[in-house]
Amino acid sequence: MPHPLVALALSMASTLGSAPAPAAAEPAVRYEPAGSPGAEQARRLLQDSGALRTGIRLPEPVEVVARDCGEPAATWDAGQRRITICYALVDEVRRTLDGISTTEEADDRTAERRVEAALAALYHHQLGHALATMNGLPAGGEGQADQLAALTLAADRPADAVPAAEARHLLAAGHGGLDHLKGTAESATFGCLLYGADPAANAAIAKGGWVPAQRAPSCAAEYERVRAAVGSLVVKGP
Ligand SMILES: [Zn+2]
Repeated sequence: MPHPLVALALSMASTLGSAPAPAAAEPAVRYEPAGSPGAEQARRLLQDSGALRTGIRLPEPVEVVARDCGEPAATWDAGQRRITICYALVDEVRRTLDGISTTEEADDRTAERRVEAALAALYHHQLGHALATMNGLPAGGEGQADQLAALTLAADRPADAVPAAEARHLLAAGHGGLDHLKGTAESATFGCLLYGADPAANAAIAKGGWVPAQRAPSCAAEYERVRAAVGSLVVKGP
């Protein structure tokens, strides 16, 4: 019979044994052919934007498929370990943001960055769903996926933090297939976490009002709380 301290250590080790395996897998991205000129335009935009390029590593191999599904959707299939991004959703994000940018008379580069960062945010939200499932987190829904997405974006694409928060803010009232990206409260939390990740570099998020003014001062603490809780699940490759 082991010494009580050894027994304790062994029982702790067996608890740790159920912890996630080291995150090491690079998501394998595949673009399927588009079936229409509109879908082809979306496919090219998604590919050229580099939104699906990531240094984030997952605990198990995951397949990322961009395809012509005929509906504006993005999904995480836990059983198949597959993220699907539909060209129709890419097109809807682009059209919605381009419409707003035209109304605002935003310059071309600003308009382009919004779309690119929105596509990255869309992908990282799905990575958030995947990380949550594969690490066995209790079901936390959209808020949990967004928390993880803010952590992975801040770690992987810090330059996208400001345009991603802006795009989420602009898409917050969106309709249709933008369901993973809409909601005013959701967009404020996402913006708060990205702002809190680096308040100096991401000051434009608070200045833009994409996080409510009274909440902005607490965003660094909010980010730290999320990072302390689930930050260990966010692993970057070499
Ligand atoms: Zn979602």
